Amino acid sequence: MVEVVEAALPDKYENMSEWYSEILDRAEIIDIRYGVKGFVVYRPFGMTIMKNIIKLYEEELEKTGHQPFLFPVVIPEKNLRMEKEHIKGFEGEVFWIEKGGYTPLEERLALRPTSETAIYPIYALWFSSYKELPFKGYQTCAVYRYETKATRPLLRGREFLWIETHNLYFTEKEARDQTIEDAEIFYRVTTEKLGIPFIHLKREEYDKFPGAVDTYAFDTLLPDGRVLQIGTTHYLGTNFTKVFNVQVHDEEGKLVNPHSTCYGIGLSRILASILLVHGDEYGAVLPFEIAPIQVAIIPIYKSGYSNEKIDKYCEKIYSELKGQGFKVVFDNSEKTPGEKYYYYDMRGVPFRIEIGPREVDTNKVTVFRRDIRQRKTIPYEKLIEHIQKEARDILRNLREKAEKRLRENIIEVNSKEELIKTYREHGRKIYKVYFCGRKECADEIKEALDGLETRGKPLNLEGEGPCIWCGKPGHICYLAKAY
Ligand SMILES: [Zn+2]
Repeated sequence: MVEVVEAALPDKYENMSEWYSEILDRAEIIDIRYGVKGFVVYRPFGMTIMKNIIKLYEEELEKTGHQPFLFPVVIPEKNLRMEKEHIKGFEGEVFWIEKGGYTPLEERLALRPTSETAIYPIYALWFSSYKELPFKGYQTCAVYRYETKATRPLLRGREFLWIETHNLYFTEKEARDQTIEDAEIFYRVTTEKLGIPFIHLKREEYDKFPGAVDTYAFDTLLPDGRVLQIGTTHYLGTNFTKVFNVQVHDEEGKLVNPHSTCYGIGLSRILASILLVHGDEYGAVLPFEIAPIQVAIIPIYKSGYSNEKIDKYCEKIYSELKGQGFKVVFDNSEKTPGEKYYYYDMRGVPFRIEIGPREVDTNKVTVFRRDIRQRKTIPYEKLIEHIQKEARDILRNLREKAEKRLRENIIEVNSKEELIKTYREHGRKIYKVYFCGRKECADEIKEALDGLETRGKPLNLEGEGPCIWCGKPGHICYLAKAY
């Protein structure tokens, strides 16, 4: 008799915070006991998922002509201060190194909060002709921001992992086109491979990346109704190339400043989104491609039947799957089947294969699919084909569910009264409104509605109407609470 596995976690829609802390711990994603506020340890299981995620984005970046580099983590204070808007935006969040051993440093060094001011002085040395452009470079690294708001593991930390690109173009058009390509890259991985939908927004003027001309952002929806910014891309104009004296000769030999872009892929937050958006009360649910364990084979021994026979059959399945390149474990440890189910469910292992006497005697395989929690018994010869087909279906299912929820949580409201009433009734949702773009209105909305923020103009929607708050002419804008 196989034990029934009971749900181990609370409902994530009712109590996201508790669900999330439990899963980070029980699925061994991260360890929050490091003892420095805003810093966490990525455990081997969590880091393996992270590396698989990184690989997907890096592949897309390299396919689109980005080259890897790695700049130092420290930035000299004078570099950080050169672009005025930039330092204004980051000053309150910078970690400073002031001493080396016992000696005060001649110049303070910042731990990079982002790397423009580390990279542009070197770009000034690297490029001298328009013929060397475009240049597309990226690095995968940790950045440091002294968050003053409450920190939350992976969602808001003082150290987080990301990928940042820093591209140079001869023309404005090429640079602006890059922000579109960045969104396409983001879609190809985040939605098509990880099943996480997002809203593509142009942030309001007062909400731009410090030093940018235009900021575009990718927000996803979490189970508690808040949105999470998981990526951004910025057209920087010539703001940074001018300040850092990055110049190239044009066709006539005249010196000009190239246009630039930067793009941030929020890896820590993307990992959090995958757990939060796809997970259920049994634990994580991982897309097949990034799962550290894709298939777990579990023998179901029975008294009066040869354990050895079951083990042998399991080993045959193991070799077959391994030979196909799948990440597979054969778990014949002393734990009960129920304990094993709990363990692999919690870690989001997409498939579990259960082998008992019936499977051995009939040359069949029982496959349990984690996302829909259903078993199917199939002939042994069909196994590989079945896994491949169902793996694609898992991704389709996770993505469709997430897209449906995002769609259903966008509510259109047309007047101040309706916004206030609907917000009181429904709470955290994404509200579609007309908005004038003025910070005064945004501040008043935030104040009146419990922190509801203007997240910007959705790029797929055009339209004009009177601002929901002040009545002045406005554009379509989404309002939501955010992390
Ligand atoms: Zn207004």
